[in-house]
Amino acid sequence: MNPLVQVKNVSQHFGSMRALDDVSLDIAPKSYTILLGPSGSGKTTLLSILGGFLVPSAGQVLIEGKDCTSLAPAKRPTTTVFQDYALFPHMTVGANVGFGLRMRGVAGAERDRRAQEVLKLVGLPEAFGKKPHQLSGGQRQRVALARALVVEPSVLLLDEPLGALDLKLRRQMQEELKAIQKRVGTAFVHVTHDQEEAMALADHCVVMNHGRIEDEGPAERVYSRPASRFSATFMGESTIFAGKVGAADRIATPFGEWALATSAKAGSEIALAIRPEHVVTGNAPLSFGQATVRDVVFQGSFKRVTAALAKDPALTLLARLPADAAVQAGESMNFACDPRHVLVLTR
Ligand code: ADP
Ligand code: MG
Repeated sequence: MNPLVQVKNVSQHFGSMRALDDVSLDIAPKSYTILLGPSGSGKTTLLSILGGFLVPSAGQVLIEGKDCTSLAPAKRPTTTVFQDYALFPHMTVGANVGFGLRMRGVAGAERDRRAQEVLKLVGLPEAFGKKPHQLSGGQRQRVALARALVVEPSVLLLDEPLGALDLKLRRQMQEELKAIQKRVGTAFVHVTHDQEEAMALADHCVVMNHGRIEDEGPAERVYSRPASRFSATFMGESTIFAGKVGAADRIATPFGEWALATSAKAGSEIALAIRPEHVVTGNAPLSFGQATVRDVVFQGSFKRVTAALAKDPALTLLARLPADAAVQAGESMNFACDPRHVLVLTR
């Protein structure tokens, strides 16, 4: 399938500040793309370039095969939902949603019909005649979404759309966003710094750092096989420690020599990581040795455990143990893992 959006070698400079550095990215039709990264990594800049609010210093943006690099926002097949919703307070919800159609010269009755239709789609069929201040935060967010969807864009751009909502509503809205996206089939590009949000929503997860793409792919792949140390740290938790590649796939670690496959040359300094759910107590092929349990937090369905390792006390091992595991702070026990779960990070 041809990509719907092609970002080609885009860079953006603000004076001497390089906000984006040679970014290339393809977005497939009907996909949910998440741009994930810490504050200042260039997510909003990239979204602004996709939406036409910013013309990049270098590079190209093609949408549906057409060069849109310097095309104004209203002239390209995208719409943007901003974090603050930016609804018109004096207009009814119906008029807010129909606004983009009015700008495109769609007549009143047709406008209202289509506004009603998308309000139904976002689960607010009864809100048409209300004013924005009569709605809750989550409902206002849905109105903003309806307003962006009503003009039937090819790509919907969302910048931290759930950032203003409390955690519970946020998780609920995530499910709804995903369901709405699948229903309408529009490609969504959604910016967030929240890795849980990324995992819940992304078909395609793009991890950004310092204006570059660190890693991209299905969220599951990015989590299970991160391409870099940064990606491993940003997408999920892990314990990371140093390794030095020896001969024949043997890697020297603080816990002894481990046999692990790697493409790195002998002598290279690499990083190894293990996810908390892959750390076990007792025996497994690769041992971390003894560790003193520092902290046990009961989380309902599991226990989150941190432990100081005898062989490298500066390192904190993070484990996710079964909810009924008999483990207590101060206790000393053996921790281990299986080689197939160790992440070998060469950059
Ligand atoms: P994010 O959305 O990931 O937090 P941004 O894309 O907003 O990051 O910003 C990336 C970098 O570019 C930051 O260092 C930010 O300070 C800088 N930046 C963004 N917009 C401007 C601007 N208009 N002028 C100068 N610097 C900017
Ligand atoms: Mg931002």
